[in-house]
This record gives sequence, C-alpha cells and structure tokens, in this order.
Amino acid sequence: MTTVWIAGADEVLRPPEDGLPYLRHDRAEQMTLEGGDLLLDGDAIGTFSGEVSLRVDARGCTVLPGFVDCHTHLPFAGWRADEYEMKVTGVPYEQIARSGGGIASSARAFGAASDEAILAQARTIAGEMLTTGTTTFEGKTGYGLSVDAERRAVRLGRALGEQVEQSTRVTGLFAHAVPTGFTADAWMDEVERLADTTDVDALDIYVETVAFANEHLERLGRIAAARGLPLRAHVEQFAANRSVPVALAAGARSVDHLACLQPEDLGPLAASETAAVLLPGAEFLGDEALAPARALADAGAICVLGTDLNPGTSPVASIPAIVGLAVRRYGWSVREALLACTLNAAYVLGMSDEVGSLETGKRADVILLDTPAAHLPYRFARNPVCAVFVAGRPVWVRPDSAWRLEGGA
Ligand SMILES: [Zn+2]
Repeated sequence: MTTVWIAGADEVLRPPEDGLPYLRHDRAEQMTLEGGDLLLDGDAIGTFSGEVSLRVDARGCTVLPGFVDCHTHLPFAGWRADEYEMKVTGVPYEQIARSGGGIASSARAFGAASDEAILAQARTIAGEMLTTGTTTFEGKTGYGLSVDAERRAVRLGRALGEQVEQSTRVTGLFAHAVPTGFTADAWMDEVERLADTTDVDALDIYVETVAFANEHLERLGRIAAARGLPLRAHVEQFAANRSVPVALAAGARSVDHLACLQPEDLGPLAASETAAVLLPGAEFLGDEALAPARALADAGAICVLGTDLNPGTSPVASIPAIVGLAVRRYGWSVREALLACTLNAAYVLGMSDEVGSLETGKRADVILLDTPAAHLPYRFARNPVCAVFVAGRPVWVRPDSAWRLEGGA
C-alpha cells in the first residue's frame, strides 16, 4: 500500500465541516482554499503516520477532490456533428427531425453499433474525462427505445464501469422518448417492468411536450419509491411544464436542466432536499434559456453542475469547461462552481459519504491544478488539471508535470 504525501499546495479546497451530505449554496463561501498538505493513505484520505512512499511537489498548485459528473448520457454510439452545424446555421428543428436527426438518430446508431464499438468510444471519452479531472461519473440509458435495447444499455453501462478508472453509476432513463408504436402510457408499463428486471442505481425521465408529461413523472415517482431507487427528472428545459412541484412531491433526488423554471417554484425547490442540477453546456450549445442559477444559489438550493454529455445537445465532457460557463453565465463564484461539481454532485449519486470532498476516510480521489482555483473559470477553456489520483493511485499525470511526482519520499 502506498502512502502519498501531496506537499506544499498553495490552495486545498475543504468543506466548512466534515460529514456533510451536501452544502447548500448560500454557504458555499464557507468552503476554504488555504495552503497545506494532503496525505493519501492507501485508497483513502488519511492522516500522517508511518512511511511516505511518494512525495508530490504541489507548490503553486490547487488540490481539489476529483470532479463528480452526475449527469451524462454515456455510453452512446457516434456523434451528431452534422446536426449541430444545421442547428447553428439556422435550419429549423422540424427539418432536422425530418432528415432523421435527434434522439432517434442516436437510437439508430446505438442499435447498429456492436457492444465493443460502443464501449470503445465510451472508454476513450472516459479517458478524456480523467484528464480534465472527473473521477466519478454517472451514465444514463435512453438511446435504446425498445425493451431489449434498454436492457442492453444497462448492461453496457455496467460493463463500462468495469473498464474505466472512474467510479460509475448507471441511471435507467427508460422514459427518454416515446418509442414508435407505443403511447406514453403504454411505454410506462414497459418502464415499470424494466425497473423490476434491470440493475440500475436510479430512475430518470424526460418531461417535455415532445416526450413525457407530469402524470408520467408522478408514476415514475411511485415506481422508484416502491423499489427504493432515487428518482431523477429532466424538467423545464425548453418549456415551463410546472414539473418541479410534481418532482418535489415525489421526493426526487434531483431535477435537472431548469432553464425554464417557473419563479414560484424556485423557493420550494431551494428549501427542499431535491438537488437543482444545472447543465450550462446544453444551455450554451443549444442556445437555450439560462437557468436562474444565481437566484437558486442565493435561496440556498443544493446546486449541482453536470456536463449533460450526449451527442445531441451537449457533446461536452470537460468539467473545467462547464465551470467556466457556470461562473460567467450564472454569476457564480469559484467556490460556488466547485461545490456544485464535487460534494453536491456526489449527493445526487448517493455517494457523498465516499467522495466529493477532502475528508479523512473518504476515497482518495484527488486532483491537482497547476494554477490557483480562480484561474479555472478565468482562463476559460484551458485545462489546468495536471495530476489525477483515483483511490490513492496516480492514474494520469500531464507530461510537463511529471517532475512533481519524481521526488520520492
Ligand atoms: Zn440529460
């Protein structure tokens, strides 16, 4: 077992107290960024005792918990770059849909690709995510659009977890789009059977005029509760459907997107234990409305950031890019943005007792930035991550920073 001493960092991000499952955003400024050292004792964050086997020179660096990306659509097949060009050059959505774009396009690609091709693409992306500091991620099903293909999506999500350095969670987004030949109600019967017969960590639904309605969200809430699974929901992305009160009544773990959140729903959401997952990559690349993130933070919501990594609306895998967008577009501080992709994101995945903050006993998923934390959003689109540790092991080191790990004990 190796003991790693990360020595002399300029800034180390710490929560205001240990043992918090989440930190409401009106307390984000209580997180500290003071200089210091961190000890990785085997696979956990530890305290000094015995021999040090690796000393990391962290002068000039910021030490953070590894990023947690709690909202991705991995694994998926292929990309949709041609559709993106149509969108940005002003081709109407109906025409894109008629020419075979959208979720249906990704479902066809998913069906046509071999297991190995899908996993190979997802492993490559997970490798990129490691270099930008993501040490835990969630992936959703949803590109199957049939019972058998959704089962396959769960199986591939689990297989991916076996093949990457990160810890992963699999969410059954069985209610993503209504498959051809089904009504939404009839498909929800299949969703219920899928929930009974697949191994998933949470259930999710896409509530939108073109997909599912609040009554289906309500039903998924009952399905999730009966099986002890957390409920998540894509809501208020393109239209105000007033889904948030329904999700709150169902005890949802998170409501995701919220670009069209109704003002009267903001207070109850902020007061609840349902996290507000904000996806500025989708908002930016889709030219969507902006979620009222500043108001949510001020009201003390449990705010979270994710990439929404998917081939349609947010082909973005980098949390540093998402942090840059959030700080500028939401008017958030660096601490607010960092809290939202560490501890609070771990809460969404039910993992905040394991990861998400630098506390003794938590898994030693730790990243080094080669700059002060403030440079992360400020030098937008630069990746400052120079070393990544997963469970105490250095799993990625940027070549120009290798010297930091060559000091020995
Ligand atoms: Zn999504």
